[in-house]
Amino acid sequence: MSRRRAREQAERLLASVGVPEPRRVLRGYPHQLSGGMRQRITIAMALSCDPEVLFADEPTTALDVTVQKQIMRLLHRRRDERDMAMVLVSHDLSVVADHADEVIVMYAGRIVERGPAQAVFTTPRMRYTEALLRAVPDLSAPNHTRLAVIDGRPPDLVAPPSGCRFHPRCPFARERCRSDEPPLTSAHDRSHACWYPADEPEGAHHGR
Ligand code: SF4
Repeated sequence: MSRRRAREQAERLLASVGVPEPRRVLRGYPHQLSGGMRQRITIAMALSCDPEVLFADEPTTALDVTVQKQIMRLLHRRRDERDMAMVLVSHDLSVVADHADEVIVMYAGRIVERGPAQAVFTTPRMRYTEALLRAVPDLSAPNHTRLAVIDGRPPDLVAPPSGCRFHPRCPFARERCRSDEPPLTSAHDRSHACWYPADEPEGAHHGR
């Protein structure tokens, strides 16, 4: 398109993501803008080619909580208006719980659990998902309650642990977890990769 049309479209896009005075901002430099404004502009750039799928990798990292909310609301609105799918990559479980229909949990490069957001958050199956959810601070807990953590460190991906990659950090690990990698098993609309999932009674594994 011509230079003039490109400029007009850029102004329209910046206005559509809530950037005030888009004409002036278009002549500015990134360091003259706040983190939230820069994020809005990045979203405008991502939307400029009318994608069917928007891949939002940590879209709210490094933003304060109020701006996080504005950015997520904006992404949500644009997604609905454009009938576009969105893949949201985030380590922030509250953002995921608020915005995802379906959740995929990954550990050390592998998918370890998948399912509708509500089901995964209320009844996690894979032990890593369970531990992650337990590590979310509970604001209603009494003062000085110790925060739950996942022991150990993320694995070395060059030489990942054998069997289930989570086994060195999993309090439920048994011999089988160390030697055999659990396959991603599906039932109905959920999948998990764990030999001893959280919602199966202990006795269900006898003989394995
Ligand atoms: S397969 Fe074993 S080590 Fe891995 S998450 Fe399940 S119980 Fe823990």
